[in-house]
This record gives sequence, C-alpha cells and structure tokens, in this order.
Amino acid sequence: MSKKETKLQGWNYSPAPESKSGASLKKQYDLFIGGKMVKPTSGKYFKTINPATEEVISEVAEANAADVDKAMKAARKAYTGVWSKMKASERGKYLFRIARLIQERAREFAIVESMDGGKPIRESRDVDVPLAANHFFYYAGWADKLDYAFPNRQAQPLGVAAQIIPWNFPLLMAAWKIAPALACGNTVVLKSAETTPLTAYKLAELIQDAGLPEGVVNIISGAGATGAAMVNHPEADKIAFTGSTDVGKIIQKAIAATHKKATLELGGKAANIIFEDAPIDQAVEGIVNGIYFNQGHVCCAGSRLFVEESVKDVVIAKLKHRMASLIVGDPLDKNTDIGAINSRSQLQTIENYIRIGLDEGADMFQTDCKLPSKGFWCRPTLFTDASQSHRIVQEEIFGPVLAVISFRTIDEVIAKANNTPYGLSAGVWTDKGSKIFNLTTKMRAGVVWANTYNKFDPVSPFGGYKESGFGREGGLHGLSAYVQF
Ligand code: ADP
Repeated sequence: MSKKETKLQGWNYSPAPESKSGASLKKQYDLFIGGKMVKPTSGKYFKTINPATEEVISEVAEANAADVDKAMKAARKAYTGVWSKMKASERGKYLFRIARLIQERAREFAIVESMDGGKPIRESRDVDVPLAANHFFYYAGWADKLDYAFPNRQAQPLGVAAQIIPWNFPLLMAAWKIAPALACGNTVVLKSAETTPLTAYKLAELIQDAGLPEGVVNIISGAGATGAAMVNHPEADKIAFTGSTDVGKIIQKAIAATHKKATLELGGKAANIIFEDAPIDQAVEGIVNGIYFNQGHVCCAGSRLFVEESVKDVVIAKLKHRMASLIVGDPLDKNTDIGAINSRSQLQTIENYIRIGLDEGADMFQTDCKLPSKGFWCRPTLFTDASQSHRIVQEEIFGPVLAVISFRTIDEVIAKANNTPYGLSAGVWTDKGSKIFNLTTKMRAGVVWANTYNKFDPVSPFGGYKESGFGREGGLHGLSAYVQF
C-alpha cells in the first residue's frame, strides 16, 4: 500500500512581480520569411496563452506546407546568393550584433519567455536569456576560425538547415540551433513549439534590427504537420531537432535514404547519484535544482535519485524540508521557484504519472503550498521507495516529480542508473575524485555533472546516447554538426 503524505511549512515573502509593461507584444504575429513578416497562406492563426493565467497573449500564424516551401526557398536563395559567399569575418559581425542586441533587450525577452512558457522569471532572466546571448557570442567567435576548428580540412557549410525546437527553453533552443548554423555559413528555417512561439518572433524582430540579409534566418510557427513539412522538404540539407523520442524516431525514418543530415536531441531520465561521502546539503540543493526548478521541464532533469542506503534517511529528510520552502506560483514573481506547467495537456500527463506512481505502490510526498486558482500548477512531488520496474522510474515525465531508489555498491548504482532507454545526462555527488572518474567513464550519459547539476556553458557540448538521440550541440562539437568536408 502506498502512503500519501503532505506537509505545510511555507515561507512568506512579499510579492515581487516583474512588470509586464517591459514587454511589447503584438496581438498577432505573422511568419518571418525572406526578411519580412508575411501572412500565412491559409489565413489561419492560433492562440498562445499564458499558462499561469490561461489568458490569451497573442495569436500566431500557422504555417502550412506552402509556407514551409516559401521559407525553405527563401533560405536557399539567401544561402546561394549571399550567406555562403560572405566573408566569414562579416558573418561573425552579424552574430556579435545579434548577441549584443539580446543583451540589450534581455529584460523584455525574459518577461515574454516567462509569460508564454510559465517558467519563473529568475530562470528566464538568469539562465535562458544570458545563455542565449552567450551562444551567439561564442559562435560569432568561431565564424572566421573554422580552419582552426578543423585544421587542413576546408570545412564547408551544409546548406539550408530545418530546425525544430520544443517548448521548455524556447529562446535558448533557438540560439543553440541558429548560432552555430550561421557561423558555419548555413541559412535556417526555424519552427518554434506550438505553446511557446513568442520569443522566437521577438528574435525575428531583433534579427531585422541587426540588418541580417533577407532569408538567412526564417522563423515560422505551427504544430507537428508544419515540422513534418520542413523535415520532408527537398531543400532541407540538415534537420536539427530537439523534442520527444517518439517524434525523433519519426524524423529519422522520414530522412532515411536521403542526403539529409540530422542531429536529434531527445528525451532523458537522468540519474542523480548521492554517495554517503557527498556534501549532503549541497547535494540536496542540486537535487532541487535538477528536478523542481523550471517545473522539471528539462530533458536533462535529474528525475531519478539514487541515494546510498546509509544516508537515505537524512537525504530524504533534508529534501522534504527544502521542498517545503519552495514557492510555487506567479512566474513573473522574482521569489518564485516553481512556475506554471507549460500547458494543460502537459499537466494532465504529469498528473497521470503521479496516479501511476501511487498505483505502483511508491510512497508520495507533496508539499501543501497554496496554488493559484487559475492556470496549470503542480506541487513538487517526491516518490520514495520506488523500484526499477516502476513506470515513474523508467519513463520521462517532464514535470516536478522525483523518484528515489537506494543502493549499496558502486556497481549496483551504475547498473541501475544505466538501466533506461535514455542516456542524456547524470549527476554524481561525492567527496572522492576517483569515484567521479570511475562513474563518468561508466555512465552511458552524454553529460555527467559532478557535485553540481544543470550547469550549461556554450563551450561544453551537450547531447545524448541511446534513445536520447545523437549529435552534439554547443562547443566545437556543435560546429561539426553544420559542416561537411
Ligand atoms: P514535446 O513532447 O516536447 O512537445 P514533441 O516532440 O512533440 O515534444 O515536439 C517538439 C517539436 O517537434 C515541436 O516544435 C513540435 O511541433 C514538433 N513536431 C511534432 N511532431 C512532429 C513531426 N511529426 N515532425 C516534425 N516535427 C514535429
């Protein structure tokens, strides 16, 4: 029998909301094709809502196959006519300009990101937007140094890149995709996710202001059918996709036996491993950062917690205590730790997994924090005494839900942590460097953080093993995904 336990131990802060007036948003957004905002062929628009209030923020154009065709042709024209011929140092200047403009408008981007996606302003302001600017700065620097990145190999661009991104880091994923592609001389068509199209269109405005030649970057919006039309378009030389493993598999099938190259960054079920010699308080903070901040809407979220048996009770006690102080609520409030779940359907998915966890017999702990009456919210949730075979341990939930499993030996925890179809990231907490190196060589995960979690830098490559996809974004590796020899 599973137990359901709740505890109230709230902290009260005065509200400190960021003002929405810092964001200038239009009622309607058209498609950004060939350097201009153009109406969708079908005349159809769809609403994008604020998941914290359920209010409609704007309407955005739905691109159909004819619009995708226009965008891909605009990108081809810009590639052959301008961008691939431009001196590399000139390309770099445009990227530097975009980076600086993002910095100048950082506050506005952060507000729009939090309104459209539900993530706390602290996260969008301190993580998403600065990292997006840093990606452009970093790849701007590489634009005229490809001969040093790939000595004696004469790297050439691939051509037109079709880039499809998810809703969890809308601006940052756009930067991850656009910056290296442009630095290497490619042009792009980027599609935002259906629930978070706004910062991509703010980026389109900024790109116009940066004076980028027409058609080098095209930004469109729409759902799966739009993405599929991009993948299947004959002008696409490269597909860069971040999203679910299911869609990643569809894309890989669709491009089999074509010339199209692909990088796929898919799901994850990361293990966060705590040894008894770890700095426990820091580890608890790392666990919270890994799964609860940003609502667990992170493909590398530390959603499985492996704790050495001898410290299990103390780790769980400290974790519950820390969870009780987490503030769930208005994403625009600077005190908020956990914002709104991105959409109603994602909330239903998470709630369904919580029910599954209870049915499977794991013990659940949730805090009693008050939730706003409107919007999509989920309390931070902890399942203790979960087992390897539970679905909450095996499947990606993409919400603030953590499953705890204990272990006794290193070999046992490596076997358990690797026992998942995914392999995107992992965390290890210990005082011993030798244990860290032992684990990093044996964990089948693209990124392994040691005594920290969810740390990103444009210089470090990111990507997965197994069903978490292939190819790397970030760093020098991120350049090689956009060149041929
Ligand atoms: P998530 O579960 O994170 O929403 P999805 O894989 O469904 O992940 O969505 C990620 C992105 O892929 C979104 O931009 C979505 O519109 C797009 N997408 C969905 N289905 C397809 C498809 N069949 N082909 C190409 N892109 C798709």
